Order: sequence, then structure tokens, then C-alpha cells
Amino acid sequence: MMTELKAEAHIAIPSPADYVERIADRLFSFDAVVTNEGSGMDFRFPFGQASLGLSPDALTVRIRAGDAARLARLKDILATAIEVHARRAQPRIVWQGDLAGDRRLAQFREMRVAGIEDLTPHMRRIRLKGENLTRFAEFDGMHVRVLFPTPQVPEPGWPEAGPNGLPVWPAEDRRAPARVYTIRKLDVARGFMEIDFVMHGDESIGSGWAASARPGSIVGIMGPLGRPVRSAQWYVLGADETGLPALGRILEKLPAATRGFAFVEVADKGEEQIIAHPPGFELHWIHRNGKAPGEDARLAETICAVSRPAGTKCFSWFAAEAEAAKQVREHWRGKLGLGRDETLAAAYWRRGALGPMAG
Ligand SMILES: Cc1cc2nc3c(=O)[nH]c(=O)nc-3n(C[C@H](O)[C@H](O)[C@H](O)COP(=O)(O)OP(=O)(O)OC[C@H]3O[C@@H](n4cnc5c(N)ncnc54)[C@H](O)[C@@H]3O)c2cc1C
Repeated sequence: MMTELKAEAHIAIPSPADYVERIADRLFSFDAVVTNEGSGMDFRFPFGQASLGLSPDALTVRIRAGDAARLARLKDILATAIEVHARRAQPRIVWQGDLAGDRRLAQFREMRVAGIEDLTPHMRRIRLKGENLTRFAEFDGMHVRVLFPTPQVPEPGWPEAGPNGLPVWPAEDRRAPARVYTIRKLDVARGFMEIDFVMHGDESIGSGWAASARPGSIVGIMGPLGRPVRSAQWYVLGADETGLPALGRILEKLPAATRGFAFVEVADKGEEQIIAHPPGFELHWIHRNGKAPGEDARLAETICAVSRPAGTKCFSWFAAEAEAAKQVREHWRGKLGLGRDETLAAAYWRRGALGPMAG
């Protein structure tokens, strides 16, 4: 018989009502069904339940899940939502109840390189083997934070779980730098995942590691990360090379009757890949033909020019350089007034800056 696990955190925050709307909006985007209960809110996720209770000077969070991995997932997304959206109030979150004080970070795995394949001149697929990868098939998140050993920190210390369920990092001189990547393929039974690295130069942490990786090289991963892509009958998808692994994963999983358009920006024809997609879907490639990555406006312009069919459940998804993502997000959310449950436009990298979540 499955025993339900429970935890709660009582968080002192002056005027929690000032923050709760944004916290709730973020939680909602994890495919939650939300109900209002008096002065609080209930969230039913595919992997467990959470409730937020408000008083004038505190927020009380209660969570329930069917197993330890799901409870850890709830702790992670609740604590992150509160820390991000109530940052001003400096919330101190300490989970009580089941698995309180457990230092093992449920979302962390050490992985070992088991295969390297160049898909195109600038895209390298690396197979990583690790133990117990079940959680990476759950929770609808496609991405991981990869922690890279470097010449400066060749044998990093790995993170542990803090009292809030979020990672506690080792001291700076033992801390591995992190970048976000997509799990392009996952095989839980055989214990591996594959990541497609854009090879944009040997100097940077992620791309440089991929260039020098050898069978047996070690990385840490944390995840899964990311919001679910909602189910719909029609999609428009847009990506540059960094979003191509995610776009490929989305497209090949869509039911055969799904319709829509996908646009992918790559350097040139040599960077195109064969991506499986439903027959009613059109996949178009946009070649930069000599322009630098992040300098070609056509991907964002093309995506913004696509109209959604009336009377059909639609989802719009975009992943590319930060400026392009901002333009597309403003068009969908601002100009067209679409909600989070029908759009997702994400910055996957930023010109001249370190990757998202690098710190
Ligand atoms: C959810 C998510 C999923 C992602 N999935 C993938 C994935 O599957 N594969 C993948 O390759 N990337 C992916 N990315 C993007 C990746 O995290 C960034 O490109 C990251 O900056 C790469 O780290 P780096 O150490 O190589 O470069 P950084 O040290 O972060 O940056 C060094 C310099 O390189 C530039 N730079 C970074 N990326 C690129 C690029 N692609 N082309 C040209 N210049 C660049 C930066 O502007 C900076 O000037 C994803 C990002 C997110 C948020």
C-alpha cells in the first residue's frame, strides 16, 4: 500500500498577499489545477498537492505526495516560487515533516560520458550514463542543469539539500559552474540520457567541455527543469540551435493528428537535422548564411507573423537568444494577450553573457 508523504513550512513574511498572485501564477504553469479555499489556495499537480495558507504575517505551505521523489519535487518548485517572487521579504523556508533534514539532493545525479557523436559540424551529441534516472521521465521537465568540472575545479564537490529542499553548494573553490541543457533523449531502462551541445567555441564552459569530453568524463546534473508544454491541437514552435533539441523532443512526441508550424534557425544547410514530426506539421529551416548567432531577426519576425487558427486549442512555444525571446513574448503575452497556459517563450542564451542559471 502506498503511504502518502507530507511536509509543511511556516514562513514568516509580512503581507504575504502582496506576493501570492505571482507565486500562484508560477505554480499554475506546472500544469496545476487551482482552487481557492477561504484565504488560501489549493494546487493539484500531476505529481502531488500543495496548499498555501495566508495570515497577515505568514505564509503556510502544506504539501502531499505519493513518494520521496515527488515530495522533493514539490519542495523544490514551492520553495523556488516563494524565493523568487517574495525575494524582497527574504523568506526563510524550513520544511518540517517527512524527509525533513534529508541532505540527499533528490534532483542530483553524477553522470559519466558513454558516447560522443557529431550530428552536424556544430552539434555534438553526448551520451551520459547514470543511476536511477526515473525522475527525469516524470514531472514534464525536459531540461537539466549540467555541473561541469573545469581545469580550475577538476574534482568539484556536489550540492546537497538544504532545509528548504533547494541545493546547498560547496565553497567557491570546489563549486562546478553550471549551464542549462535539454535532455534530447532519455532511456531510463538502459540508464542513459543524451544531450546535444551547440559547439560555439572551446573557450566557454559548456561548449568547451563538450569539445574535450572523452568516454568516462564526469559531470553532475540536476533536474528535471522546465515548465510543461501544454497539450493542444495546433502549435507554432520556433527555435535557434540551442532550442532545437527541445523542439525535436516536442515534435516527435506530438500525436499524429496535431497540426502546426515549426521554424528553426541554424547557421546553414549543413546544420539541418532530420526531425520526426506529425504529417500535418510544416517544418521550415531559416539559414543565417554568414550572420552571427543572435543577429538575424527573421526567426522572431516569422514566428510573430503566424496567426493561430480560430476555434482550435493552440500552444505557442519559442526558445532562442534572449532579445528574440523577449520580442516574441511581448508579442504573444502583451500584444495578443495570451496566457501562460497557451504560450512559452524562453531565453536560452544571451549575447555577450553567461548562460541562464550559470550562477
Ligand atoms: C532551458 C534551456 C535549455 C537549453 N538547452 C540547450 C541544449 O540542449 N543545447 C545547447 O547547446 N544549449 C542549450 N541551452 C543554451 C545554453 O545553456 C547556453 O547556450 C549556454 O550559454 C552555453 O554555455 P557555455 O558555457 O557554452 O557559454 P557561456 O559561458 O554561457 O557563454 C560564453 C559566451 O558564449 C556566448 N554563447 C552562449 N551560447 C551561444 C550559442 N549557442 N551560440 C553562440 N554564442 C553563444 C555567450 O553569449 C557568451 O558571450 C539551453 C538553455 C536553456 C535555458
